[in-house]
Amino acid sequence: MSLRLHDSLTRRLRPFEPVEPGRVRMYTCGPTVYDRAHIGNFRAFTWEDLLRRYLRFKGYEVEQVMNLTDVDDRTIAAARARGVSLAEVTDPVIEMFLEDWRTLGLEEPEHVPRATRHVPGMIRLIEVLSARGLTYETEGSVYFAIGRFPEYGRLAGIDAAEVATVGRASGDEEYDKDDPRDFVLWKGGDRGGEGAVAAWESPWGTGRPGWHLECSAMAMHYLGETLDIHAGGVDNLFPHHTNEIAQSEGATGKTFSKFWLHAEHLLVEGRKMSKSLGNCFTIPELTARGHAPSAIRHLLLSGHYRTQLNFTFEGLEASARAVTRLHEFRRRLRAAIEAGVGRGDGAANLGTLAGRSRDAFEAAMDDDLNVSEALSAVFGLVREANQTLDVRRPHAPSGAEAVLAVIDAFDRVFGVLALRDLESAGADEGLVEWARARVGDRERARANREFARADAIRAELEARGVVVEDLADLTRLRVGSHTVLVPRVPR
Ligand code: AMP
Ligand code: ZN
Repeated sequence: MSLRLHDSLTRRLRPFEPVEPGRVRMYTCGPTVYDRAHIGNFRAFTWEDLLRRYLRFKGYEVEQVMNLTDVDDRTIAAARARGVSLAEVTDPVIEMFLEDWRTLGLEEPEHVPRATRHVPGMIRLIEVLSARGLTYETEGSVYFAIGRFPEYGRLAGIDAAEVATVGRASGDEEYDKDDPRDFVLWKGGDRGGEGAVAAWESPWGTGRPGWHLECSAMAMHYLGETLDIHAGGVDNLFPHHTNEIAQSEGATGKTFSKFWLHAEHLLVEGRKMSKSLGNCFTIPELTARGHAPSAIRHLLLSGHYRTQLNFTFEGLEASARAVTRLHEFRRRLRAAIEAGVGRGDGAANLGTLAGRSRDAFEAAMDDDLNVSEALSAVFGLVREANQTLDVRRPHAPSGAEAVLAVIDAFDRVFGVLALRDLESAGADEGLVEWARARVGDRERARANREFARADAIRAELEARGVVVEDLADLTRLRVGSHTVLVPRVPR
């Protein structure tokens, strides 16, 4: 089975083939670190994680670069507004970003470069573009002349002449350009005090790089002149990715990326996210309300990436139930295997069912990452296998291990059960602490001959799933996967 992905440049589903067999070079546009990322940003990042994991599932080795935009208009504006340095704004935001990244169980890309550490490479790229006659300089700023790059705008489906009607190619209209459609590569001078927080030396005097240039330079630095996949949210299509293509292909004369992938936006309760609507949630805001990371991850992954996803609290609860169902099913499957149920000789062979479901899962994901179909293959397996497992000996089914293997393979891609396991372990730990304290209370009650109270405490422990066994001079507690021994008070 082979993977097909929708390429925004050719607007077609195309069979995926990396330049180098077996190895994928992928660049994903990272966050602008002026403020904590919201769940909309994380829809893009979680989907990119799914893509990465699925490529690995297909047997590819993946080398991914995700940049951190730590110098641009927004980071500079934040530093100036607070009267601090750029790093004082971006360092803590990067910390928060990586914390949220781990909360959602996202795999770490091979390279996570900060733009401010790559300015010399950006300057070199401008020099190459200048040598090729694609730039001009005005008062210390350097612009890309899109009129001299005939292929300009193919990704966005527009040509250079149309740019003016679609919008500016960058938000830098305050600068002195030959043609208002051009975009800036190097912003020279002090720009009304910006120089105090962001200034680098260059052949054109002090200044700082343009945002689009950052991604072209870092992508080519780590991954070479032709990438296999370049991905981001739809809002990156124009002007950001359009300008990245112009800069990179203008400099190398080679295809910059074989595939351009774009994820649609996340809406919250049916509306565009915005600070004024108060619907711009961050990951810790959701976890503080008691929502599990596994449920958030499931919800962010649950719709096809090329359609808008509507985030609702009802949906989040439905996601939590779906993850629990899967988690319970896997627990049941493991118990059945341990008890030898899955190795019966009944007519029903779960192995056949497992094989069919795995094929359906892979066929769905191969079809441009059709997650809804993939999830329905997995939940179909859960439903059917549950029914089959209900059959008692001597007609117990065989092949339970094969089902477990499919569930594990599924989760290497979706990563929701792995998160759920961590959540259960964390919950167990809290319960262990509580149980330990209650057993101490019970011992004291017994020492005081308050037997009714001691029995009530035991009932309370058992009601929360804690198994209590009194041994000669110890009490053994079993809480989930933990066993705890508490000394008894000698009498
Ligand atoms: P930014 O930090 O603004 O540069 O955005 C980082 C990533 O998040 C980009 O790939 C954006 O396309 C993506 N993004 C921003 N807003 C949303 C949204 N509401 N839904 C999905 N992705 C978004
Ligand atoms: Zn980018």
